[in-house]
Amino acid sequence: MTFIASPKRYHEIPYNRCGNSGIKLPAISFGLWNNFGGEDTLENQRRMLMKAFDLGITHFDLANNYGPPPGAAEKNFGRILKEDFAQYRDEMIISTKAGFRMWDGPYGDWGSRKYLISSLDQSLQRMNLDYVDIFYHHRPDPETPLEETMAALDQTVRQGKALYVGISNYNAEQTKQAIDILEAQGTPFIIHQAAYSMLDRTIENGLTDVLDEHGIGCIAYVPLAQGLLTDKYLSGIPKDSRAAKEFIPFLNERDVSSDKLQKIKALNTIARDRGQTLAQMALVWVLQEKSVVSALIGASRVSQIEENIKALSNTTFAQEELDAINDILN
Ligand code: NDP
Repeated sequence: MTFIASPKRYHEIPYNRCGNSGIKLPAISFGLWNNFGGEDTLENQRRMLMKAFDLGITHFDLANNYGPPPGAAEKNFGRILKEDFAQYRDEMIISTKAGFRMWDGPYGDWGSRKYLISSLDQSLQRMNLDYVDIFYHHRPDPETPLEETMAALDQTVRQGKALYVGISNYNAEQTKQAIDILEAQGTPFIIHQAAYSMLDRTIENGLTDVLDEHGIGCIAYVPLAQGLLTDKYLSGIPKDSRAAKEFIPFLNERDVSSDKLQKIKALNTIARDRGQTLAQMALVWVLQEKSVVSALIGASRVSQIEENIKALSNTTFAQEELDAINDILN
């Protein structure tokens, strides 16, 4: 049956301008790093994408290597796009990236022009798309001249394969250098994708200043610390959680340490006092940071997306709440 999106979808959430660009992003965006691989059921993926779109989420974030296996998330997304979202393509901001290992040999990793250009071609093929809205370099490459990587990003725009470009995981200094090159080239560089959550505040040490100064938006990835900043781990590790999955090396039992749990429990109390779940409070907290345009969440089920979107009905913090949160985090 053809998917007909909710007519109310644009009344649900705010859209924030991404830096000085013409693009607005939903305050919450949806990423397909986990739960969109070959092991995951296509029906759950489809349901999550439909729910996200119905709730006003217009931005979907991918990368060449999302799976497992690498490429599977783009393939699955492409199939669902074709089958269900074809009429909505112009209402969506779709991003992908290259920068981590994607194929064997010296040309399937890091930041050469050779890798970026061929990887984007492959991504477009997997997703059945003519272009992506944003193409990112996924991580800085210490060996390739930055000029070459930035020229490759520029080339993707001139080829019509990307509308805008972004960088991810670059520190403040690397970002400044990238900005200089991209500005000189006239490349539409509008966004930086960076880790940011109550448990990882690295970007506050210089990066956000650079982004603010140059009118570049920041999209905060892993805002829930992969689920740690929810009520999911408060009383143990549930069997169906990311931390319990053996094939996901990024979050495991060791990450759910007693020190962290203590903080999480204290944060949970503040969230409850605000009438929010911890996940909801964690999301609006990242949106407090001036350059953060959107919180980029993941989910394993529809109910998580529904819960997380409700965060946006209470986005302000009293100074005492912020102070209490800082006390817990410091
Ligand atoms: P989150 O911090 O949002 O974690 C998502 C996970 O948290 C879900 O899979 C789920 O875990 C759990 N969760 C979400 N909502 C709830 C809820 N309401 N209650 C309980 N548990 C909940 O982000 P991700 O780690 O998924 O990353 C988000 C996106 O960021 C990625 O998809 C990707 O697009 C991007 N990213 C970019 C990176 C980069 O280098 N540029 C690196 C990493 C991510 P469970 O599966 O256990 O249910």
